[in-house]
Amino acid sequence: MSTLALSGGQKQIGHEHSQIFRWPIVNQAMEDGILHVLRDGNMSGTDITRKFEQAFAEWTGAKYSLAHCNGTASLQCAMYGVGLGIGDEIICPSVTYWASCVQALTLGASVVFADIDPVTLCIDPDDIERHITPRTKAIMVVHYLAMPADMDRIMAIARKHQLKVIEDVSHAHGALYKGKMTGTIGDAAGYSMMSGKSFAIGEGGMLTTNTREVYERAIVFGHYERHNEITDERLKAGAGIPWGGYKYRMHQMSSAVGLEQVKKYPAEMAEIDKAMNYFWDLLEGVPGLDAHRPSKDSGTTKGGWYACHGIYKKDELGGLSVKRFCEAVTAEGAMGFSPGCNKALHPHPLFHAVDVYGGNCPTSKVSEVKPGSLPVTESIPECVFSLPWFKKFDRELIENYAAAVHKVIANYGELLPGDTDKGFEQGWALTARKK
Ligand SMILES: *Cc1c(COP(=O)(O)O)cnc(C)c1O
Repeated sequence: MSTLALSGGQKQIGHEHSQIFRWPIVNQAMEDGILHVLRDGNMSGTDITRKFEQAFAEWTGAKYSLAHCNGTASLQCAMYGVGLGIGDEIICPSVTYWASCVQALTLGASVVFADIDPVTLCIDPDDIERHITPRTKAIMVVHYLAMPADMDRIMAIARKHQLKVIEDVSHAHGALYKGKMTGTIGDAAGYSMMSGKSFAIGEGGMLTTNTREVYERAIVFGHYERHNEITDERLKAGAGIPWGGYKYRMHQMSSAVGLEQVKKYPAEMAEIDKAMNYFWDLLEGVPGLDAHRPSKDSGTTKGGWYACHGIYKKDELGGLSVKRFCEAVTAEGAMGFSPGCNKALHPHPLFHAVDVYGGNCPTSKVSEVKPGSLPVTESIPECVFSLPWFKKFDRELIENYAAAVHKVIANYGELLPGDTDKGFEQGWALTARKK
């Protein structure tokens, strides 16, 4: 007789519980803030945005915060801010969302892809060094799936080769690296705040930096309405019109939400952290699975655990595919389990073949990455799976979820005969896969 729900057995989780995954959590103050903007007659102003920036800077400890209409824009301004320009190269992990790097092309720079570390899933410092050329200007560090990257080693490499470091904190708002706030360690940082992210305000992005020059360059590039803040004479001489030809201010309705979000986010983050760590504690030592989380007492944390994933080792489960594993847990009534993560960027023709701006040659001046040259990146779809992102510490439900996983693992033999492992489609985005 079969035990697993996938083969006709009883489900582990029978009741409706989708409420625990609901996001973002909207409170009265957010609603009031939006109504205030709506009625104030100054929707395109920046007064509420500046208050939000101030509060964000206080929370992160960054010296300067500059709000943007989305995370993509904040990262583009961070690139311009650190001086990325024509002919330069920026080193970026291939496993990330496209908005970590495509903006470099608009600046006349090229993207060079590096491999990731199989434990952190963030850029591998050794592979950064292998990709440095005389053209390298910057490193884009993504704190991927909320896991802080190995910043000590990355900053040491950057100092040695005189490179700029940009942190993409779109997955890791509030995450600490050895006690330091992510986004304040490199030369500049960009954060997405779109509604799927852990720090969600609707559509919006933030740039933070401790360097006045980066801040002013970002302003001159995409924030014409704030050119009066510029003090650098070289920038001032051309002020008044945005150098990038972009207008990137954050909508005040998003700012109003952000101003409230920054007040309640630390408590939400603490609750998520407690829930997710409890879930993994219950699965400690189970064959086939490893948590994707920092070790305890390292001072490193995952903040809001955006897009939480686990590491999958099929060799410990008789070769059972990650896809089949996820199907079996899902059949037990669990939500949020799916195989893979972001599709690797490096094979995409945009980075080596497409002529975006009509120059009669590929826009990016780096050649195609050969198969086998980013081995961890290439193997990663089969080795990771997404997890339920618990927003509340509901002990009973979390224990039930862990029991569902234990049940599948204990009976994985039942799944092997039906495991045809035809592979699965990975997406360019994580949030598009709703559920
Ligand atoms: C979401 C995301 C972005 C882009 O942010 P938007 O607010 O959607 O423009 C950039 N980098 C990463 C890693 C992201 O996940």
